[in-house]
This record gives sequence, C-alpha cells and structure tokens, in this order.
Amino acid sequence: MLRGVNYEGERVIIMLKFEKEVVSSSLLDPREGFQHKTIEIEIRRDPLTGETGRLAHLGMIKPQKEDFLALDTQENRNRCPFCPGNIEKVTPQYPSDILSEGRLHQGQTTILPNLAPYDQFSALAVMSTAHVVPLEKMTAALLKDAFGAALEFFRRIIALENAPPYQLIVWNYMPPSGGGLIHPHLQVISSSFPGNLYRKTLTKSKDYYRQFGQNYWRELCTTEKKQGERFAGQVGAGYWLTPFVPLGVLGEFMVVFPEVRSVFELDEKTLQDFVTGMERLFAYFRSVDINSFNMGLFFAPVGEADNCFSLHARFIPRTYLNPGQKPPDTNALQVVLQEPFTVIHPETQCAAWKGFMEK
Ligand SMILES: [Zn+2]
Repeated sequence: MLRGVNYEGERVIIMLKFEKEVVSSSLLDPREGFQHKTIEIEIRRDPLTGETGRLAHLGMIKPQKEDFLALDTQENRNRCPFCPGNIEKVTPQYPSDILSEGRLHQGQTTILPNLAPYDQFSALAVMSTAHVVPLEKMTAALLKDAFGAALEFFRRIIALENAPPYQLIVWNYMPPSGGGLIHPHLQVISSSFPGNLYRKTLTKSKDYYRQFGQNYWRELCTTEKKQGERFAGQVGAGYWLTPFVPLGVLGEFMVVFPEVRSVFELDEKTLQDFVTGMERLFAYFRSVDINSFNMGLFFAPVGEADNCFSLHARFIPRTYLNPGQKPPDTNALQVVLQEPFTVIHPETQCAAWKGFMEK
C-alpha cells in the first residue's frame, strides 16, 4: 500500500494497484546466428477493471505515414454525403418531436441522425465543410464547435420524456480507425445500452467507491500525478496520462476531468480545456506520424454515480501494419481473445509526449 495526498490535499492511503507479471519466451534467433535468446512479455492488470493486457512485440509496429489529402478529389467530394451541396439533400433529419429544427448547426458542424443508427438516438456530428481534415488542420474552432454541438444535442435529448440515461461520443478518425467515411464526423450516442467497456467501468467505479469511499478517477489522477511516470500534464481541469494497461497496439492516451461528471457539468471553460489538451496531443501525434485514432468520451449518467464517476476520454492510435496490403492493427488477440497488446511501454510513451502537454 502507498501513502499519498488526495485531490483535496489530504493524506490518504492509496488503494490503486498497478500489478504486472513478466513471462519469458525462449528461442534460437536466426537474426543472431541462432543464438539462444530470451524475450520478455509483460502482462499487466488494469487497476479498475482487473482485466489484463500485455506489452509484447515491442517496437515492431510503427505508425504508417499516409497522405490522406490525396483522397480530397472532386470525384470523392461529389460522392460524399457530408460535403457541401450533398449534406442538405442526402442526409436525414430528426422528426420535429425529437429536434424541431431537424438538424443542429454550430460553426461548421452539423448534427444529424445516422442513416444506419446504432441505437435509439444515434447522431453524427459532421465536423467540417472540408472533405479531408488532417490533424494539422483540425483546429480548436472545429473541435469546439463539434463537441459543443454534441453537448447541445445531448441536452435536447435528455429533456425528452423517457430519455436514455447514458451519453457517449465516439470518433473513428481516418481510415485505419475503421471509419467508413473520411469526411470527419463524431458518433453522438444517447443510449440505455452503452457498451461493455462503459458498463464495466461504471460498475467498477461504483464498487471502488463502496469499498474505499473514494472516487477512483480522482485517485487515479492523484496517484499518477504523484508517481509521474504516466502523467503527461494538467491542462485546466483535465489530467492527461497514459493508462497502465493501454487498449491500443500503439498505446493509449487518456484525459480525466476528476471534478466533472455529467453532460451538464461540461461547461464552456472545461470544453476549452479539453480542446486545448487535444490540440497539444495532436501536435505530439503529428511528431510521431500518428494520423488515425479511435476516441471515446464517457459522461456520468445524469443524477447517477455523482460520487464515483468522472468525465474521461480515451484516444487510441490506429495504423495499418504495412502500406501495401493495409492489414489493420487489430487481430485475433483483440478480436477473439479480447486481449489488448501494446508495442510500447506507456511510461516510455509518456516521457516522449510530456513536453507537448507541459506549456
Ligand atoms: Zn466529404
């Protein structure tokens, strides 16, 4: 057990456990004249969920450079449902009992229903009028309008009778992430069935509070900031860190807002902090050729879990394994075994990233 100082500056016992085990694999290495070699694989356990992930294949997968702007052709824009001239004609609108305007607009963002919905309220936030927006052009204004419009959509849905309790925003950015359309758009989902990761995280956060009387997320921020090796920096209300058990092959980046919970608590100032943090994260991404990712932003359900859950977002870089066949970086380990593996230590990644967040 560690002793530390909690978010309010009080001395507390830190209950978080960062458990890992190293296993060795022996082989005769053809690259070194078939000499005997031992390769270590690290199995880690997530401090909240207890689920395992592994650090393996170290350094053997790198982000692939890709010129996505080459896809910004007139032919592709003509075919794209989200490009100006098409979006008004071929995308659906909400019925007036859900959204009186049909679609929501803020800056360049348009919120509209997904023609192929995943859930009862499954909207898209089309983020720009531009068809292809590489990271260097993903400006603070675009991000703020897109997330701001999504928040307004949630507030409108929550005001409806029998609105679902859970809100989440997910983002498939660029083709390696699994995004079917390159034109940037967020998935804005209000649901009674928010997915396994969210459900598990919420349940375990409640369990942690019952067991220790503390908000896990606040504890995580305090502990990571104190220990330092996975803490990249604080931007306003947001604590940016690399998770102990990353979910992606190229690692994972997380921001936690320990004092913010529901959609109604993500105010203008917090949104600005989030956007500023994203800008700095994306500057780091550009420096190491990360050009695609999945993102999830998880809110506490309104009126529930006030003491035990905090707003947080996960950014998981994605890449092709090679530029020829473009195999995705997910394989049987993640899909069949549901076991993430990562080719870089979160502590090494954080050390390289930190300089971008500390401004
Ligand atoms: Zn487009």
